[in-house]
Amino acid sequence: MAKVMAVNAGSSSLKFKLYEMPEEKVLCSGNAERIGHEDGIFGIKWNGESEKKIVPILDHAEAVRLLVKALIEKGIIKDMNEIVAVGHRIVQGGKYFSKSMLFDKDTEDKIESLIPLAPLHNKAHLVGFRAFKEILPNVTSVATFDTAFHQTMEPEDYVFPIPYEYTEKYDCRRYGAHGTSHKYLSEVGLKYIPGVKHPRIISCHIGSGASITAIKDGKCVATSMGLTPLGGIMMGTRTGDLDPSVMNYLCKCTGKSVEEMYQIFNKKSGLLGVSEVSNDSRDVSKAVEEGNKKAILADRLFIRRIADFIGQYYVRLGGADLIIFSAGIGENSPYYREKICEEIGSALGVEIDKKLNAGIRGEEALLSTPNSKIKVAIIPTDEEVMIARDTYAYYLKK
Ligand code: AMP
Repeated sequence: MAKVMAVNAGSSSLKFKLYEMPEEKVLCSGNAERIGHEDGIFGIKWNGESEKKIVPILDHAEAVRLLVKALIEKGIIKDMNEIVAVGHRIVQGGKYFSKSMLFDKDTEDKIESLIPLAPLHNKAHLVGFRAFKEILPNVTSVATFDTAFHQTMEPEDYVFPIPYEYTEKYDCRRYGAHGTSHKYLSEVGLKYIPGVKHPRIISCHIGSGASITAIKDGKCVATSMGLTPLGGIMMGTRTGDLDPSVMNYLCKCTGKSVEEMYQIFNKKSGLLGVSEVSNDSRDVSKAVEEGNKKAILADRLFIRRIADFIGQYYVRLGGADLIIFSAGIGENSPYYREKICEEIGSALGVEIDKKLNAGIRGEEALLSTPNSKIKVAIIPTDEEVMIARDTYAYYLKK
């Protein structure tokens, strides 16, 4: 038995989950938020209990110190050397990584070189990695990349139709994101299509960030997010795919800079931008019920963009055996699941049990009726367990 930590470090936060491996038993989970502030928030859940406190967390190393201290105080571990390995989620692995890697100097340098492609994320992941290295210098460290699963795409699926010189010189291409989640979903999903020789799966990770991936024989063949997580379907605050001239036109109209408009496309668009209500689908749905016209439009747009991508990937895969719904909205919103399935229903022969669907939130379930030409399932995603598995595998190899 070995204790393995899965870590997701953001610019001002550090999420963690400690596993007993190989059993994959979760010993504790939690989050340090508002890192860099005197009134940081440290929360931890373990063994049915939970604690949240406001404490100064001036940097990520302090967050790791608090975490180790809490683990010992709560009796979750006796000594910090019990943690044998730490796996770090990394958003952008660029063209370098098609699987999880030992977090050595070479990996660290490559992640650093990819900062221009994911400025906020990769910088924060490195800070998190270095903080753990300082407090737990001897553990096995592993990097798990959101982009790795998508590295099996063919050039026709990842090259943008821009001058090829830019593709080569600046590595400007589709990388996708949420790869760890899509991989997990496609593995768990197999049980719903036993005996299918060449499984074709469309996985829909629909949360505040959202992406759809086409998977054939366990490999990603296409994914909706692009160079960055701004591309693809419409999201809580992100535009998803746009005609590129929208940027040029709106900068001229508003006098805003490209950078300012880019921030608007990332943080003020999507469900929030169109509805002018909220980025949270629950608030938008409430406004829809109240007859708010912009909320109704945002809601319709959101459903249609998702349906468009499912249709596109149905063609890309030459059919589909399974559609999976996951993440905040996919797992918890019967309304969106029903509406999306209605939108694709007549073209793809998809039919779900509406009564069953209406009662399910946050649980795994098969939703499709026996008449449906494609199976439809809800599978709660688990990126952390994938990180823990890959990290433990490297620990065993050492
Ligand atoms: P995620 O980014 O995967 O955590 O998903 C967050 C989003 O899931 C939120 O912004 C909500 O829009 C949505 N969500 C969470 N819970 C529910 C729920 N019970 N019903 C509908 N939408 C939900």
